Order: sequence, then structure tokens, then C-alpha cells
Amino acid sequence: MATALSALRLDPQRIRTFGSKLRAWYRRNARDLPWRHTRDPYAILVSELMLQQTQVSRVLDYWTRFLTRFPTLHALADAKERQVLDAWAGLGYYARARNLHKLSRAVVREGPRAWGDDTGPLLPAEPAKLRRLPGIGAYTAGAVATFAFERRASLVDTNVARVLTRVFAPRLQPKRSRDQKRIWAIAEATLPRTGKATWTHNQALMELGALVCTARVKRCDACPVRMVCRSSDA
Ligand code: SF4
Repeated sequence: MATALSALRLDPQRIRTFGSKLRAWYRRNARDLPWRHTRDPYAILVSELMLQQTQVSRVLDYWTRFLTRFPTLHALADAKERQVLDAWAGLGYYARARNLHKLSRAVVREGPRAWGDDTGPLLPAEPAKLRRLPGIGAYTAGAVATFAFERRASLVDTNVARVLTRVFAPRLQPKRSRDQKRIWAIAEATLPRTGKATWTHNQALMELGALVCTARVKRCDACPVRMVCRSSDA
């Protein structure tokens, strides 16, 4: 990770300015989304899985209905797969629902032993342990660690990769595996010091990628980080 990062020669002052402008913008402009009001790891996990490949506006209804029907990991583990798929019907990418159901059964049956511990909460807070559970990739592990447990963990999805490369390293290509390591290194290097600030920082990165620095359009004139961005048109 250190090698990937040193090749990019990131300036610490630019990193600080980027983080403070980004988080200040988020506090004023963030959408009021229901999963941002909870720290329940199960509810966060459901939202993160639903949001993969699916627009926020579609997930809003599904998330609330799903949690009403299966309010806890135990309730989900007790359900039949057919019932879980029924609650997911219309969202698509049904492997997400099957994996979530498998995860609930593994965790409820084995408890913390599912990720290699003998004691602990129902879901682990560390990304490395979360990744041992069915259907949890690097992004989802970082998201649950940050958004549920307020851990200082990095996360990179398509939106975040786009923002970080445009700002810090326009030559990197998010689809190239060699560059993905570098993008994760940038995400790690730009994290704030505390877990609480990391919660805001990671939400803000995703929000900027969804609202301002999108795949279709760059709204550089309205962007809070344009003064440190290597791709700014403003
Ligand atoms: S200045 Fe433009 S390119 Fe840079 S992050 Fe903002 S919107 Fe994206």
C-alpha cells in the first residue's frame, strides 16, 4: 500500500483541504436518507447491499419494507429463502438477497465464530472479519465498519473511485486492477483521524460522486473541492 501511494506523491496540505471542504459541504448539502439515521449494523448492511447496482429512489421503499418484515438478523435467519426473495422481488440481482440470507444463518448459527472470534457482537466491526462472511466484499466491509461502527475504514465503490481519481490522479483507471490498489491507497491516505469524522467523510465522498461529480456530468462550478482538483473545469 505504501508503494502504491508513494508513486502518487500526494501533498498532505491538499489532502487536508480536500477533506475539510468535502465534509463541510456534506453537512450543508447531504440528502436526508433513512439509513443515515441508524447505526444498526444489520440495517446498514441491508441498505448497502440494496444500494449496489440500484438507485437510491428505488431502495427507499424496499429498505423500510424489508426491515419491517425482517427487523433483525435473527428474524431473517428464521425466514425461508422464498420469503426473503419475495421481499426482494423487483430489486434485481437476487444473489444479494441469497447471500444476505446465508449470512444471517451463518452468523445466528455460529455467532462470532463465523468470522473467527469466540466472543463479540452479532456482526464484527473490523473490515477483515466482515469479509469472511458470505457476499461481503471490500466495499461493503468498509461501509459497515464505518457507517455502523464508526470505524476509521476506507471504502471505494464506483462513485468514490471516480471522485478520488479525478481529484488526485486523473491518469488512473478505476477498471484496471493495478490502479484499483492505488485508488484504495488514496482512499486510505485521505481518511480523517477519527472514526466519527470518517463516517462523515465516507458519506460525503459517496454523496459528491452521486450529486456533483457524476459519471455523466462534472458540476465543477458547484464543487466544494474544485480548488484542489486536478480535473476541475471551473
Ligand atoms: S472539481 Fe469537477 S472533476 Fe473535480 S471533483 Fe469536483 S466536479 Fe469532479
